[in-house]
Amino acid sequence: MCGQENENRFARAKERMLTRHLQGRDITDPGVLKVMVEIPREEFVPEVYLSQAYSDGPLPIGMGQTISQPYIVALMTQELQVNCDCEVLEIGTGSGYQTAVLSRLAKKVYTIEKFSQLSESAQAVLSRLGVSNVAFCIGDGSCAWPESSACGGPQSGCFDRIMITAAVPKIPEPLVGQLAEGGLIVGPVGCGTVQELVVGRKREQKIVETVICSCRFVKLIGKWGFKE
Ligand code: SAM
Repeated sequence: MCGQENENRFARAKERMLTRHLQGRDITDPGVLKVMVEIPREEFVPEVYLSQAYSDGPLPIGMGQTISQPYIVALMTQELQVNCDCEVLEIGTGSGYQTAVLSRLAKKVYTIEKFSQLSESAQAVLSRLGVSNVAFCIGDGSCAWPESSACGGPQSGCFDRIMITAAVPKIPEPLVGQLAEGGLIVGPVGCGTVQELVVGRKREQKIVETVICSCRFVKLIGKWGFKE
């Protein structure tokens, strides 16, 4: 299939994603919808799954991990209420697709991935797309952003927003510690195969949680996550 044909196919699939899977459900934030159209999801999907790049489901990305379904990416981004003053911490870089979405809305994104192979591949794609406001770290994101990281961190030592993109038994304490007062955190919480997507606001050192919906994520493996 030639390049032009491919482009047309992706454009049609993207339009379907926008109208049916995002606007057709409860994604209403114009900024989020705009970014979901702007970011080429096909760049983050393994070649073998290209024809499904805009389908409404997660897809394998290697290392037993997945790129999340477009609707969930949009919903979590909408719930996080990111603006251009926000410094955002993302736990679970994966393919880098969610990172790219956040990078268009935030001042800066700090993202941690457990698998170096995934982080390096995400770094290559984001660099190709000209994204320059993301700092990458390879390690256990359940322990939060490492203070000694060569990439530095937000000046206050606190993030305005935190997104967890893998399931946790409860919101890891180190992440609560690195969230600014009044800041928002979103992620899947629960020990079963189905979890609750939770958004929390930090008030007086505690997280006040609201459940958005049920969801199904791979597990966050780490000190404050699951033990394999
Ligand atoms: N948002 C990603 C995307 O758009 O492709 C998908 C994230 S995937 C559902 C969850 C990711 O969390 C996987 O890449 C997995 O390797 C990573 N992960 C699991 N445990 C982790 C940990 N302790 N620290 C950092 N990343 C972790």
